[in-house]
Amino acid sequence: MDRRRFLTFAAGGAAGAALASSVSCVQPFLKKQPVAAAARQDIPTTCEMCVNKCSIIAVVENGKISKLNPNPESPRSRGMVCARGNAGLQQVYDPARLKKPLIRAGARGEGKWRTASWEEAFDFAAGKLAKVKEQYGPQGSMWSSTESFAETFFKSLGLAFGSPNVERHPTLCLASVNLAYSLTFGTVPSFDLANARYIIMSGANRLESFIMPDTVDLIGSTTERKARLIYLDPRFTVTASKADEWFPIKPGTDLAFVLAMLNVIIGEQRYNKEFVANYTSGFDQLAEHVKSHTPEWAEIETEIHANDIRRVAREFADAAPRAVYYAGRRSSWYREDFQFRRAQAILNAIVGNWDRQGGMVPNAKIALGELLFLPWDDPTAPRVDEMDKNFPLAAKGDGAYLKMRENVLAGVPYPVKAWMVHKQDPMNALPEQAKTVRMIEQMDFLGVIDVQMSDTAWYADVVFPESSYLERQDPIEVLPGIVPVVVYRPPVIKPLHDTKSTLEIVQGLAKRLGLSQYFDYTIDKWVDAQAKGLPLDTPLEYLKHHGVWSPPDGAKYGATLNPDHRFVTKSGKIELYSERLQEAGYDPLPVYHTPMQPPTGTFRLILGRRAYFTQANTTNNPWLNTFAPENVLWMHPRAARQAGIDDGQMVEVASSVGSLRLKARVTQEIRPDCVFTMHGYGKRSQWQRLAAGRNASDAEIIETAWDKVSGGGAFHETFVKVRKA
Ligand code: SF4
Repeated sequence: MDRRRFLTFAAGGAAGAALASSVSCVQPFLKKQPVAAAARQDIPTTCEMCVNKCSIIAVVENGKISKLNPNPESPRSRGMVCARGNAGLQQVYDPARLKKPLIRAGARGEGKWRTASWEEAFDFAAGKLAKVKEQYGPQGSMWSSTESFAETFFKSLGLAFGSPNVERHPTLCLASVNLAYSLTFGTVPSFDLANARYIIMSGANRLESFIMPDTVDLIGSTTERKARLIYLDPRFTVTASKADEWFPIKPGTDLAFVLAMLNVIIGEQRYNKEFVANYTSGFDQLAEHVKSHTPEWAEIETEIHANDIRRVAREFADAAPRAVYYAGRRSSWYREDFQFRRAQAILNAIVGNWDRQGGMVPNAKIALGELLFLPWDDPTAPRVDEMDKNFPLAAKGDGAYLKMRENVLAGVPYPVKAWMVHKQDPMNALPEQAKTVRMIEQMDFLGVIDVQMSDTAWYADVVFPESSYLERQDPIEVLPGIVPVVVYRPPVIKPLHDTKSTLEIVQGLAKRLGLSQYFDYTIDKWVDAQAKGLPLDTPLEYLKHHGVWSPPDGAKYGATLNPDHRFVTKSGKIELYSERLQEAGYDPLPVYHTPMQPPTGTFRLILGRRAYFTQANTTNNPWLNTFAPENVLWMHPRAARQAGIDDGQMVEVASSVGSLRLKARVTQEIRPDCVFTMHGYGKRSQWQRLAAGRNASDAEIIETAWDKVSGGGAFHETFVKVRKA
């Protein structure tokens, strides 16, 4: 593949525009000889370079993957592969990927390893886990993972082992949105961006940080002027550049903006009275609650003019039901974010955007078959993060990562001495990296399953190399959505190295831990049982040929819009006022508290992502790294002038927990009270040669804070000093 073709197949919009650098890493592909048709296979599969799970077609020529094409049959990815999806090839053929099991041979973080056989690695890890179990009980272990098709096997091993301490990614990402929408509607809906006519986004920088089909919908909706996009962010992002209006809102005050919108819409009787009467509860309390939250009050908090707030509120209500206040991802920025997300949900509800084209739509699902296997007893110990006490309404199965780390470090309510991590890099995903290092150092055992030597793997006792997503058979997955999709991921080539799938690794450990009886199946049996649940004559054959299936009837709206429908809430209605919140000791309606402001001489640190990088996981990918090899610190000219800092100069950015050095980018595209940097840089793992030591990891300076209700990590609560380095 030459550079031009790579650019052609990358997604359009922001990602495509950004792919304008040289790509020396594609040179090996330029030397290809013509391939006989028989030697070429086009194998449908599913991308794993981010959580979106786009359908792709791997082109395999003479046993080697030469290209990843989009699969036009997917209604979800719709013939699109983004830059990261294209660069998946580099994960497979990365010379520095994990190729054999490794056992640590030096101090933690020293990078000294010896290779081991799988037998030895399993024996070693199982021995350590068994010892911890004997000494501290099964609850003395922790099992952390992020979303993947095979995550279920890993989680199951932790639970079968007897540990309640399964910690998952949402607690660092979507926890506040998930909880807010679940408590309001009984479910977390999708947002019909393709058909919306008025979209408000608060800090959800969709056009830069997460390039996927509904981002493309957004580009289509805005550039073709089908929809009006109102964007609130302290920073002028790529999304701001495509918006109809950008408001550089004062950080942490988005709830005040929404409360003022509610004030206008209710005060001017612009809400959907019929919908409110039929489907919601607690409207009178809500109306009373927002009476004092006038646009003039919100102007002082948000620094957005009252007339603009009033106008946006009117336009939003007038555009309903084709209007959405988009919920966004990585939704916990501040300690009060749950209440901000609740207010968004309430606003969307009272204008009747529910289950209507262009509004919020409850996700449609598809049932798969299930393989029956021996169940294990539920773990009996309480969770180490004490969810029942600290976050009684949050999703217990996801945990509360940061509270977990605090408790593990303090040894309460009991010691945790073993940690298994699957496909996740807590060293970079969690704030205050020094604390994560301290937690690892007090563990008797850390085992990591990954494709690459992540920073967390760098500190592990044993590293299990996982086969890449193009080398292994994964379970079938259903992607719920407005149009649900079933996706399939077979191996498109044999494993290049001495690697195993998640299930094989889980089975290897289970056997030595005396838990084999719970994992007595093969991936083929698992997939076969799943496929049998689909309403197709030969479902597995269909998926092998097409890679994706979706019910033919497409998007459906309005299934919940009948008077007999019961929402999965306490009252059976959409809960504007939440008794469950009240009973748990929280505000039943969103109450605003003015956020703390940066003391003189400091700035609020805000963070974001680039389209090329999936969290911190793909910074070392050669193709992607080419486009963004370096991180910078955005700083407003006035603030820079006061500190005597010039554009391009090296600066030291210091919080109460650490400091890092970055190049200053002096720009008007950020508020003077904030500085901004990108996530995903500054690896410790020397195996990540392009990212190791390049700039620094934001995890080193972000302070520990979490949303009070969901427990989700709050990443924008750090104030920093900036000075010339
Ligand atoms: S959005 Fe890009 S990286 Fe994510 S699944 Fe789709 S193609 Fe892969």
